[in-house]
Amino acid sequence: MAKEKRLSVDAVYERALDQLLTQGVSAVQAEAIATTVTSAERDGCLSHGLFRIPFYIGALKNDLINAAAQPTVIDNPESSVIHVDGHNGFCPAALQAGYEPVMAKAKQRGIAALAIHNVYNIAALWPEVEHLARNGFVAFAFTGANAFVAPAGGTKPLFGTNPMAFGWPRKDHPPLVFDQASSVCARGEIQLMKNAGETLPDGCAIDANGQPTNDPDAALAGAQLTFGGHKGSSIALMIELLAGALLGDVFSYESSELDKHNIGAPFGGEFLMVIDPAHGVLPGSPNNGAERAEQLFEALLAQEGTRLPSDRRYKAREKSLAEGIVISENSDS
Ligand code: NDP
Repeated sequence: MAKEKRLSVDAVYERALDQLLTQGVSAVQAEAIATTVTSAERDGCLSHGLFRIPFYIGALKNDLINAAAQPTVIDNPESSVIHVDGHNGFCPAALQAGYEPVMAKAKQRGIAALAIHNVYNIAALWPEVEHLARNGFVAFAFTGANAFVAPAGGTKPLFGTNPMAFGWPRKDHPPLVFDQASSVCARGEIQLMKNAGETLPDGCAIDANGQPTNDPDAALAGAQLTFGGHKGSSIALMIELLAGALLGDVFSYESSELDKHNIGAPFGGEFLMVIDPAHGVLPGSPNNGAERAEQLFEALLAQEGTRLPSDRRYKAREKSLAEGIVISENSDS
C-alpha cells in the first residue's frame, strides 16, 4: 500500500520544482509548472496535481519539446488579440507572459483575446480564468487535447477531451469559476480510477469495438464520450475550431500524431477571451452587472442541494493552507 505523508503547500511546490529542475526543465518553465501543479494539489484537483509531473517529464522525450523555451509576446496596437508564442515549451509560462498585456488591452478596449500558440498543455484551465477574474475581468478559456473522444454517432477518437473554463469576478467573494471537459470524464480521472482499481461510471466510454465499457483499460484503448451526446460533441467541435483552426494551431488528432511516445501530453494552442465588465451594461443604464450577478447567485443558492461551481475548490484550498496536503509517496512516480 502506498505510504502517505502530509506536506505544506510550499513543500509541495518545492517537491514539484525540484523534480522538474532535476530533469533539465529550465527555471522559467519549471517555476510556472510547479505553481500550476501545486495549485491543483492544494485545491483537491488531483488529476492535475503531482500526478501530472511524469507527463511533463515524459513529454521531454518528444523531439519537439523545448524545455528551456522563453515565451515571446506579440502585441499589435491595432489588434485586440495578444499572441504568445510558447516556442514548444509548456503552457503555464506562456500564460504568465500573456496575462498583463491582455488585461491592459481588455481595459483599454473592453474586450481582448489571448492566443497562446505552440505549447504543451497538460493542465486544468481554472487557474487562468481565476487569475483574470481576480483582477476584475470576465474570462473564458478553451483548449484541445489529444484524440481521445469520439464525435456523436462515431466510435473512433477524434476530438480531445477539450476543456472550457469561465471566470466571473465578485466583489466580496472569490471569483465564480467553472472548468469542465467536454467529455463525460476527464482523461486523468480515468487514469486515476484505473490506478485505484475502480470501474468507470456508465456512459463514459466505449471500447475499441464501439461497445459501452466500464473498464478503464478498455476505455483508454477505445474512445471517451462527450457529455450530453451531440450537445457536448458540438462544444468539443467548437473548441477544436477556436484553439486549433482560429489560432492556426493543431487539432487534437494532429496532436496525437505528434505524441510519438504516447505520453498523453497534448500540444497546440489555447484561446482566451477577456472582458472588462465595466463595458457590459447599456451606457446610461442604472443597472449594475455585478449586483445583478449576486442576485442570481442568491436565487440559485436558495434552492436546497445547490452550490456554485468552484465552492468545493475554495473549501479544499482553505483546508490545505491550514492543514497541509496529504500526498501518497507514489503520487509523483
Ligand atoms: P468536473 O466534472 O469535476 O467539474 C466541472 C466543473 O463543475 C467544476 O468547475 C466544478 O466545480 C463544477 N461542479 C461540480 N459539481 C458541481 C455541482 N454539484 N454544482 C455546481 N458546480 C459543480 O470536471 P471535469 O472532470 O470535466 O474536468 C476536470 C479538469 O480536467 C478540468 O480542470 C479541466 O480543465 C481539466 N482538463 C484538462 C485537459 C487538458 O488537456 N488540458 C483536458 C480535459 C480536462 P468544483 O471544482 O468546485 O467542484
